[in-house]
Amino acid sequence: MEKFFNALYNCIYNLGLITGKIIGGFFKKIAKIIKKLFHFNKASFSSAKVFFKRAIISVVVLAIIGTTVYVASSNSNKIKAVSLEIDGEVIGYATSQTQADSAETMAIEILGDAGVKKVKNNEVRTDACNIKSASVLSDIIVEKLSEGLVAVNEIYIDGDLLCAVEDPQAARDTIKQTLDLAKKVYPNSSVSFAEKITMKPTYYARNNEKLYTTAQLQTALKNADTLTIRHSECEENIYLTDYDTVEIQTNTLFVGDTRVRRAGQNGSEYAINLVTYIDNQKVLSEHLMSVAIREPVPQIVERGIRAESLSMGSYTVIQTTGIFCWPAVNLYTVTSPFGHRSLGYHRGIDISGANASGSLVVAGAAGTVTEAGWSTGGYGNYVIINHGNGVETLYAHMLDNSLMVSPGDTVQKGQTIGRVGNTGYSFGAHLHFEVRVNGNRLNPAPYLGLE
Ligand SMILES: [Zn+2]
Repeated sequence: MEKFFNALYNCIYNLGLITGKIIGGFFKKIAKIIKKLFHFNKASFSSAKVFFKRAIISVVVLAIIGTTVYVASSNSNKIKAVSLEIDGEVIGYATSQTQADSAETMAIEILGDAGVKKVKNNEVRTDACNIKSASVLSDIIVEKLSEGLVAVNEIYIDGDLLCAVEDPQAARDTIKQTLDLAKKVYPNSSVSFAEKITMKPTYYARNNEKLYTTAQLQTALKNADTLTIRHSECEENIYLTDYDTVEIQTNTLFVGDTRVRRAGQNGSEYAINLVTYIDNQKVLSEHLMSVAIREPVPQIVERGIRAESLSMGSYTVIQTTGIFCWPAVNLYTVTSPFGHRSLGYHRGIDISGANASGSLVVAGAAGTVTEAGWSTGGYGNYVIINHGNGVETLYAHMLDNSLMVSPGDTVQKGQTIGRVGNTGYSFGAHLHFEVRVNGNRLNPAPYLGLE
């Protein structure tokens, strides 16, 4: 390798020496000639002869070197390319197969059925300046393959092919005329077609049956199945506006009952809507503006929260939202709740009301009477009912001789067990009511729907 470079170096060095000698001699001779031309003699002519001989050799050598360099450089301009050929004729070059394919795809898109693949490709080398863009190549393919075909515009209605026409402007005019006719039917509306009309340029054989004349297009567009007219117009209206309903709770009604305390009133409103019709069928109403003429008046409804009643024949018992019915008929005042009070901790609730004495005391729920009689502990005449699952109720201070049950009796919910009295540790006629769960005396309020 080193040998080769040494040889190359020597070669270039020698070429330099020769060239230098030639060029040096060249200038030397020019000087001599000029000198001798001014000193005209025989020797000057012979020197000039030698000089011209050498000058011609120099020019020839330089010309050979120049040509070699030019040829070498122009060969390096040839690059890899893909040729596009139709019927053996090269119509252009692409940089790659991908670019050639994309040109052909674009051409087929325009040519439609006429663009069945007729282009052949070959890998070749060519001048860079011969390469063309995909769109230019596509144009060339279209030009070559469309010979004998008619350039047309396909007309699509909502994506479906209707026909093709040669003159797109005439087609547009025909479509516009169809729309203008519709505008005469709805003079105060904005009118359009409900369908989307699109055009696509392509090529057809002259005898293609989908290639319509303008007159044929006119007839096709008039066909009711082809296009539908959409028109929009402003409409004024007076509307009733709904009233809201406000609910308030009341103890004066049983659960589930309602009563209208104040009737609601509809308001009214003036509105302008943009209404759209397709073939006279209303398809859309867009609200443009509205002004209230009269505000609506809300309706007020009372909703009962009082528990439901339980008819026991001759009297009525209130079924509370708790698990028990109300234990004293017609007495609804809780005169002393469960918990601390001045007389000590209260283990139940006291119920009383107007004309309390003698009012009926009823079983809070079905069960078995476990105790009924006189208490030495201050309850007076009392009853205890076992409801199962460790739940018991106690009723105290009842009137003498009023107890209607005995231990071992089974009772129904709301069944009379005695009458309200003032016996035992009591100061005024009232019912003392207790709820016991597993022997613990709990606050009866939640069991009676009071909390
Ligand atoms: Zn009490």
